[in-house]
Amino acid sequence: MRIRKPSSINLRQLILLLAVFSAAVMLAGGMAGAYQVQRQQLVANTLDANEAFAVKLARIMSDLLLRTQGNLSYSGGLMVRSGMAPAVLQAEVDRLRHLELGFNTVTVVDGQGVVQAFSPASRNLKGRRLDSVARNGIGDDRAPMISPPYVTVLGNLAIRLSHPLLGPEGRSLGRLSATVYLRDEGGLQRLIGEQYFRDGTYVYVVDAQGRLLYHPQAERIGEIVVNNPVIDTVRKGRSGQMELTNSRDVDMLAGYAYVPTADWGVVVQRPTELALKGLNDLMLRVLQLAVWPALVLLVLLWLLSRWISRPLGELSQIVQDGYEDGMARRIAAVKCWYLEAQRLRGALLAGQGQVRTRLGELHSAAHTDPLTKLGNRRGLEAALRILEERRQPFALVALDIDFFKRINDRHGHDAGDQVISGLADLMRAHARQGDALFRLGGEEFLVVLPDSDLAGAKMIAERLRAAMESARVLGNETVTLSAGVAVWEGGDAQLTLKIADQALYRAKESGRNRVEAGGP
Ligand code: GH3
Ligand code: MG
Ligand code: MG
Repeated sequence: MRIRKPSSINLRQLILLLAVFSAAVMLAGGMAGAYQVQRQQLVANTLDANEAFAVKLARIMSDLLLRTQGNLSYSGGLMVRSGMAPAVLQAEVDRLRHLELGFNTVTVVDGQGVVQAFSPASRNLKGRRLDSVARNGIGDDRAPMISPPYVTVLGNLAIRLSHPLLGPEGRSLGRLSATVYLRDEGGLQRLIGEQYFRDGTYVYVVDAQGRLLYHPQAERIGEIVVNNPVIDTVRKGRSGQMELTNSRDVDMLAGYAYVPTADWGVVVQRPTELALKGLNDLMLRVLQLAVWPALVLLVLLWLLSRWISRPLGELSQIVQDGYEDGMARRIAAVKCWYLEAQRLRGALLAGQGQVRTRLGELHSAAHTDPLTKLGNRRGLEAALRILEERRQPFALVALDIDFFKRINDRHGHDAGDQVISGLADLMRAHARQGDALFRLGGEEFLVVLPDSDLAGAKMIAERLRAAMESARVLGNETVTLSAGVAVWEGGDAQLTLKIADQALYRAKESGRNRVEAGGP
């Protein structure tokens, strides 16, 4: 099994990370939602306001045009009744010029197109015949009319309102007409320019051809606008509202209304960007307000994460500390307040029970050598594993009877066994409480000395060697043994075993019946 590197992130950090992440996602979602709702609201409000304003302006313009036409009609009536008396004509054109619409010129021409009266009097055109340009917009029909924009003799862009002068039998006596210069301060400029808002909202007026009659940028007046959906719609006589991209690629929120009297359209619009300008600031304020609750939440989560991770952290620390006597008590003392931690604690306690059982198993038949009743090699493996887990220092003494083959050869196998049993008894006699004794096979033995250093182990080995030499386990014949000693340095216990074996080999090499110590 491949062992992975320990993770560098812990449970607490994970909980916090998850919490911060979900809080961020929720906040972002909430902000996005709020932004959308606010945006729709702002757009809808702006569209409604612009439409209402356009409708109102259209009505004012319509009323004004109707009133002006009424005035022209009234003056025309006076002129006809006076028999086209020059004094009456002049008085009326002067009066009409100062009407609220603010006419630049007022003219009376007779049926042949010859000027009969003109205001302002400073430009005395009386008696002159108007050429075709100046006559522009004066139709031959006998109805009142409003002309499309045209350029006057003096180069002004103008529209003309005119009214027929009809004699008693409906005979045409001429025409009364009044012009408004579109780019001048008066007239439409005064009417609409006053309504020009500082918040970026502006108004423009188009005629049936889509020509600008009024626009806050005076130089654009007279221009025919193409590719503008709101103009195309209002020209069809409709009123309403729309979001659009205008002919100059700017997104607009527009309200529009039709002026039936003149076949014009009024458009009130505001760049979408300006309408939404406050929205970003608003969102920033919302975010600022959300900071404090978020900080409080973070602190709470920080505490909660500690609360959740604590039992697991404590349990894992106990496991990492390794086996020790108070382990079960330490595990039982960990406060586990939720199910998973409780289960883990239960499992660890059960595992503890298994460790105890394993220690007990060392005395079982499977771990015991039948001849000497000492532990066997399997018992040694188990004992070393437990020692390793406990991280408890220990020393080893490896023993091997000298020239054992010879004993077998001379006295028989049973005598050999007798020597083996004799040494086992000697070992038991010299063992302290807690020492573990093993026969690893043949006439090879091992003593495990917990909590013993090298010097202590050497002493035990020497005592055993001397005891064997003088024991006379085989009649009068002296039987000796050689011993190798090693002490555990931490890490793999098998390595200690190997060092003890190497020391034993050196003892044999250097003449037998002696003790050698391994290690540094
Ligand atoms: P050395 O001093 O080098 O240890 O010489 P040695 O003769 O003792 O050599 P070694 O340790 O290799 O001898 C092991 C002998 O032990 C080989 C085998 O015949 C004998 N033996 C192994 N198991 C038993 C057993 O259970 N009973 C008896 N009687 N003899 C055994
Ligand atoms: Mg031997
Ligand atoms: Mg041997």
